[in-house]
Amino acid sequence: MQEACCEFSQFNFKKMLKPTPSDDCLTRRTNAQETVLAALQNHRQPMSAQGLYREIKAKHSVGLTTVYRSLNALQKSGHIQHRINLEGTTLYSLTNHDRHCMTCLLCGQSFPINVCPVAELGEQLQDSSKFKIFYHTLEFFGRCGACAPAPV
Ligand SMILES: [Zn+2]
Ligand SMILES: [Zn+2]
Repeated sequence: MQEACCEFSQFNFKKMLKPTPSDDCLTRRTNAQETVLAALQNHRQPMSAQGLYREIKAKHSVGLTTVYRSLNALQKSGHIQHRINLEGTTLYSLTNHDRHCMTCLLCGQSFPINVCPVAELGEQLQDSSKFKIFYHTLEFFGRCGACAPAPV
């Protein structure tokens, strides 16, 4: 039940993530995973693995491989999702930030959409099936106002 899906909510992610979405593969998160989650939470923007690594290694002795491994595990447990931008970079974000955007194919800018048109559908699907939904993705592509051809 999320109304303003593009707004970053202030929440205690540790408290919120305590009951993990998936308990089979990850009953216990490693320190590295906690660190990655904290970095994503602090940054409040989708981040690449390299960007996360740069940020994390300033304070912790964590290797890039560990960052990748943590991202992989957190993805499987439903805590984070990824999106590939127009440059082909994989960007990671927390799944409890339900955000969608319109991306311009020319300038590559992403414009947030302040509603989530599929949140309700997700709940219905989950209620009517045995599928446990952790997150969904939705993105619109086209040309932004600045890039669209001038009206004739
Ligand atoms: Zn544009
Ligand atoms: Zn949504």
